[in-house]
Amino acid sequence: MSSWPPVREDLIELAGYHSPQLDVDIRLNTNESPEPPPVEFSREVARRIESLAWNRYPDRRADELRDALAHHQSRMLSGPTGRLSKDQLFVSNGSNEVFQTLLLTFGGPGRKVVTFEPTYAMHSQISHITGTDVVRVERDADFGLDLEKARETLSRERPVITFLCLPNNPTGLSEDLAVVEDLITVTSEFGFVVVDEAYGEFSRRSALHLLGEHRNLIVTRTLSKTWAMAGARVGYLVGPENVVERLWAVTLPYHLSALAQTAGLVALDYEAEMADRVARLIQNRDTIEAGLDQMGIQYWPSQSNFVLFRPPPGCAPRYWQALVEKGILVRDCSTWPLLQGCLRVTVGTHAECAKFLAALNAIA
Ligand SMILES: *Cc1c(COP(=O)(O)O)cnc(C)c1O
Repeated sequence: MSSWPPVREDLIELAGYHSPQLDVDIRLNTNESPEPPPVEFSREVARRIESLAWNRYPDRRADELRDALAHHQSRMLSGPTGRLSKDQLFVSNGSNEVFQTLLLTFGGPGRKVVTFEPTYAMHSQISHITGTDVVRVERDADFGLDLEKARETLSRERPVITFLCLPNNPTGLSEDLAVVEDLITVTSEFGFVVVDEAYGEFSRRSALHLLGEHRNLIVTRTLSKTWAMAGARVGYLVGPENVVERLWAVTLPYHLSALAQTAGLVALDYEAEMADRVARLIQNRDTIEAGLDQMGIQYWPSQSNFVLFRPPPGCAPRYWQALVEKGILVRDCSTWPLLQGCLRVTVGTHAECAKFLAALNAIA
């Protein structure tokens, strides 16, 4: 007779990340890119894989990839931030692992993070798993941030990390940089502001512009969404060099595989294609919002590749089901805290958006 040890007490209630997948034609539920990267990208990755040193561990700190990411990010910036160096970058298996490493390093029992809800669930989830307490500040009914309430909470709770998603998932809204700067100033004596820019290229705003002026700002980005590389698992943060140095000590050795490093490196050669794809998706997003306008369905104007909308009261589950029956899967947020009655649709290809709008029209 053998028995397993019980699960850690604070994890018994944990449900784990869950995004229902169904076998449908049109998947508009997880904010992935509807288009793959260019075919030349795949060919180049295949070519480089042929000469990978499979018997050797990969470059532990992914120097070449970080250098390329720093170059790319510097090109996108102008002004006081100047050129970024690879020493300001930590790279990992998606930005979720970046959050995990940050929390393993700076979180833990007796420490707190603050989130502004509703927002990306993984910020609080990973905090919880690392034993860090989560203080949730609720946004107002239109998902704006009450700055007075935020300031007051931050000063009282003194969190090691304040998470801000820019633009926010699942609302698609963005705070002004002045608000971001305010949060940075309030927390500068005790914690970091971690700005999650997973959808950064879809938005006109980026906290990267504030990096030069503040020592407690960290910005995270990922290749998962705008770069059409969710399968590769590559994300990174940009922040102070001594913070990055600490993270290398905490993360597992050789955590980022040679495959992921190769894919990330090659992806950056297709920056123009990425920008074109993002521009196409922004057009499609405008089409979706115009369609929702015409149908008189409430939505929140998005700065991202998804749109949060609210069917008439009580109708969200029926709309979701009717869309599934027409082969279209969107995200049902209607039972999530603070998102009563809401659905979220990812911006797909032009054809997918047209089918989504036609289906919605037939239901509404
Ligand atoms: C999709 C998403 C991520 C991406 O996570 P990866 O681990 O990089 O794939 C991060 N933050 C938000 C808000 C997201 O929606």
